[in-house]
Amino acid sequence: MFCPKCGAEYREGFVKCADCGVALVKEPPPQEDDVQYIEMVEVFSTYNSGDIAVIKSVLDGDGIHYNFSGESTLMMVAAGAYARLLVQADQAGRVRDILQEMEFLEKK
Ligand SMILES: [Zn+2]
Repeated sequence: MFCPKCGAEYREGFVKCADCGVALVKEPPPQEDDVQYIEMVEVFSTYNSGDIAVIKSVLDGDGIHYNFSGESTLMMVAAGAYARLLVQADQAGRVRDILQEMEFLEKK
């Protein structure tokens, strides 16, 4: 038996986690590995699909994890919507530096 909240394992016969007070389940909770929730912050937005392509190639080359909002970003941009660049909060400073170097963001 496993606690779905903290993952503690209990012998048969236990029904509740002593720590969390939640009902135990038969299957262990899924391993989270490194797939923790990571806060993504917006560092840049653009209407320009050319900008997006350039930024993607630079961030790929730098091994930065990023997300452009929307599944079909280029179509959204073509339709006049913003594409928003989201990066992990702990890499946001670095990405801002890169974007400033590339003059996508104003230097401060
Ligand atoms: Zn527990």
